[in-house]
Order: sequence, then C-alpha cells, then structure tokens
Amino acid sequence: MKNTKNYSLFSIGELETQKRVELHDNLKLTGAEISINELLKGESVPFVHAHKENEEIYIVLKGNGELYIDGEIIKIKEGDTLRINTKGERCFKASPSSSLRYICVQVKENTLTQFTYDDGIILETKAF
Ligand code: ZN
Repeated sequence: MKNTKNYSLFSIGELETQKRVELHDNLKLTGAEISINELLKGESVPFVHAHKENEEIYIVLKGNGELYIDGEIIKIKEGDTLRINTKGERCFKASPSSSLRYICVQVKENTLTQFTYDDGIILETKAF
C-alpha cells in the first residue's frame, strides 16, 4: 500500500485468492466505494438489499449467474454491466456450474456533473 499527496496504490494480489475486497480504506476513496467480489458456484449473497443514497454499478468480470431485482430474476454473464437505483431490491447468485466475479461501484445517486473530457485537463507535462 502506498499513499502520497496525489495518489494511493494498493495491490489486492491475485484475484483468484480473494472473495471480497473493499477499496475505500485502502485507496482512501472520497467519492465512491468499489468492491471486487466473487461468489462461488451456486452461492448467493445471503440477503436482498437496497441503498439509502448510493446507486450501484456492477461489472461482471467472469462467470455467470442470476440477479434478483425487484421480484424478477435475470440471467447475467461475463461482460454484462448494470446500474441499479438506490431503491432497487437486489441479490446476486452464481450459477451452479460457475463462480461469479464482479466489481461493484457505489456512488451517490445524481451527483455526476462532468466526466472524461469535460472534467479532464490536458497538461503540457511530458511523461514518457
Ligand atoms: Zn449494495
């Protein structure tokens, strides 16, 4: 782990060995929580949940499974990305034949005002 004035670096090591890693403390995040998660074959998150303020963005990195969302079950697979509103009642489950690895990003709903080219500043500094 390394924390300097302008950046934090934290290695989670080999993904295959981690069930769940939360990055907010390790990277001293100030506007989002990011977690990297794995459900083993047939495993589900043990509860349905919603949020008070944060929407969640999910990125499925590997495997397939199902998402319970507001009483409906939808199939999910590697490469799928989802945004779920605060009130969405959600629960993930890995398929019986595949683990499910995904990233979850929590951000305060309706706070994104600019990004990429609107927020970035191209500098004269030469790097490489
Ligand atoms: Zn959540």
